[in-house]
Amino acid sequence: MIQIKSEAEIALMRRAGVLVGETLELLRAAVTPGVSTAELDAIAEANIRAAGGVPSFLGYHGFPATICASVDDEIVHGIPGPRVLQEGDVVSLDCGAILEGYHGDAAITVAVGAVSQQVKELMRVTEESMWRGFAAARLGGRVSDISHAVEAYIRSQGDWGIVEEYGGHGIGTEMHQDPHVLNYGRPGRGPKLQKGLALAIEPMVTLGSPRTRLLPDNWTVVTAEGGWAAHFEHTFTITERGPWVLTALDGGAAKLAELGVTAGTG
Ligand code: MG
Ligand code: MG
Repeated sequence: MIQIKSEAEIALMRRAGVLVGETLELLRAAVTPGVSTAELDAIAEANIRAAGGVPSFLGYHGFPATICASVDDEIVHGIPGPRVLQEGDVVSLDCGAILEGYHGDAAITVAVGAVSQQVKELMRVTEESMWRGFAAARLGGRVSDISHAVEAYIRSQGDWGIVEEYGGHGIGTEMHQDPHVLNYGRPGRGPKLQKGLALAIEPMVTLGSPRTRLLPDNWTVVTAEGGWAAHFEHTFTITERGPWVLTALDGGAAKLAELGVTAGTG
């Protein structure tokens, strides 16, 4: 079911979104060679709870942690634990929080120390494709306008793998709602983009084949052939003024301005 939120509800989603965005900035600052993914998880849980929030991933279908930490060839849903990050790794950190009943969901991929130029480019293309998705979202447009913009940007940048088995989603009083938002496809399809709709956009891009495999822990999704992956995500809504990125601390203003798009506000 697609949930349309009132302005007051979107204002609550903004509060949840800022909490998620601030938590991810704490995590970004804590990523360094020698830190374990369990330590990052503890930082996130403490920050969310200190603000009166609830970590939404913890207990979700039995998931045992506050964040997903996916390293190198892990794409998404990695379980934090004793693994220590090494110089040259990349780690995707996905974080969700509930505040006053509303969800925020966002992810960043962070380099651990110095990484190769190819991995830097992988991260850049993935993040930029997400912003192209927001920039393509217009009131009265369709969900697949976003999908198309994400794919078109990635394809324009070279030979990258686009993960097809996972994608973005509606979000509100639950973390995962309709509609599903593919990271590829033709524009002009799917539900209408309307005021009060909130979506998480989350491209996952790989070096080499984008085919995936599930590890025996039944959570961690890795690339089938071992190529490294990047994953970025933000939760956003569309206002009359423009897209409002609820989990970006500036609402998306700076990145959208680079693309010639005015960001929305509450
Ligand atoms: Mg997420
Ligand atoms: Mg999500």
